[in-house]
Amino acid sequence: MSRLFLLIAIIGLVWLIARSVFKSSANPTTPEQQTNTKMIRCDYCGTHVPENEIIHTNDKRYCCEQHRKSDQETP
Ligand SMILES: [Zn+2]
Repeated sequence: MSRLFLLIAIIGLVWLIARSVFKSSANPTTPEQQTNTKMIRCDYCGTHVPENEIIHTNDKRYCCEQHRKSDQETP
């Protein structure tokens, strides 16, 4: 019985160490900006543009200022 407990304790310890090593080594190498960048579709021309470059209006998104103007001028 004590052997089983020891085995579980060792597995738990190894798992904790492996997890912390994986976490610390994986984080700095992951370029977070690239993986988190969502591509948003322009409601006027359909082009996919990175989320940080998109132009937001009340309920629509555009790839550029010109398309926002063009879409709102034409009913
Ligand atoms: Zn567009």
